[in-house]
Amino acid sequence: MSLDVAALRQQFPILSRKLDGKPLVYLDNAATTQKPQAVIDALVDYYTTCNANVHRGAHQLADEATRRYEQARDTVAKFINANVREEVIWTSGTTEAINLVANGLGQLLNAGDEVLVTEMEHHANLVTWQQACKHAGATLKVVPINARGELDEAAFAALLSTNTRLVAMPHVSNALGTVNPIKALTAKAKAVGALVLIDGAQGIAHGDVDVQDIGCDFYAFSGHKVFAPTGVGALWGRASVLADWPVWLVGGEMIQDVTYQDATWGALPNRLEAGTPNIAGVLGLAAALDWFNTLDKAAVQQHEKALLASAHEQAEAFDGLRIIGNATNKIGVLSFMLDGAHPADVGFILDRQGIAIRTGDNCAQPLMKKLGIPGTARASFSIYNTLDEVDALFAALRKAKMMLA
Ligand code: PMP
Repeated sequence: MSLDVAALRQQFPILSRKLDGKPLVYLDNAATTQKPQAVIDALVDYYTTCNANVHRGAHQLADEATRRYEQARDTVAKFINANVREEVIWTSGTTEAINLVANGLGQLLNAGDEVLVTEMEHHANLVTWQQACKHAGATLKVVPINARGELDEAAFAALLSTNTRLVAMPHVSNALGTVNPIKALTAKAKAVGALVLIDGAQGIAHGDVDVQDIGCDFYAFSGHKVFAPTGVGALWGRASVLADWPVWLVGGEMIQDVTYQDATWGALPNRLEAGTPNIAGVLGLAAALDWFNTLDKAAVQQHEKALLASAHEQAEAFDGLRIIGNATNKIGVLSFMLDGAHPADVGFILDRQGIAIRTGDNCAQPLMKKLGIPGTARASFSIYNTLDEVDALFAALRKAKMMLA
């Protein structure tokens, strides 16, 4: 069955917007996805019908809010195939989820320990580990990529040792679109006794994420990359690891017993969730996943493949365009440079034509430096994009080329 993209688009109010009289062509989905009406309704419904704080009320509204909020945890747990619901920790997004783990690891690392990351990291999955290592006197090692933008698996294996405490890598690169073989690499890392964290910011919206199948210890993601609101996300962690992971945020909700001089921590998941959470965001995230689950996953993947294939075909035929990232297993992202043009200028000209892309370093400065480029222009696709929109991108790029040549 193929995806009914026209019907799908109807569910996203923003997609009918015009910019300077031109239809919006939204190709910045790796930055954030648009929201279907079902998600917008879930936010309005929460504030309209049951706004109350969770876990502490002696009244019906609080009970109802708590029930919905905890049901959302079940929804996420099921979506990623967590073993138990307590393994899902709410965060404000991927960045906070990784900080939670890195802060804890920083307290466990000793001099001589090593953390392994890759050359394709987003700053969220680099600066976190870099700082944790710096504070502990541990060593950060970096797995190189090849000319296609794929991880060098032999180098990955060679860099692993019994000193490796944790491996952190992206499921999908936001800058290159590379889909990493995370299951195989996780198995290699586990064989030397390392913990494994997957940065799932770009992976969550594209595939069937199954954390048990991957075999990792942590999987971090943001709701806004998968049709949910901003400001909410989750850290999945293996219960046996999270149960005594050093806490980082302390305060209300996460304690068991408090005296003026000391405190003890509650059980999972609360011990890692201090303070009043983003309740509306959590409900919005569950609504987004429920909505996403109504789609035929095979049709979704087929459509995304078709969009990227068309983009690549046209990019390869485009004189003066250099594709950045040509992995065999790639999804959702076309990063590129136009000869003689700064990416920011390309983005500006496209924007005048209603086409929204990202330009810049893609929050991956070390990767851009390695590639010897100031940044890229990046078109990134989601399920509601059409092949006509890919054509519109290239028509606009032809104009940009003429104007900038
Ligand atoms: N990692 C990757 C690969 C990303 O693409 C992003 C978002 N651009 C992040 C981490 C950080 O996500 P957030 O800003 O939602 O915390």
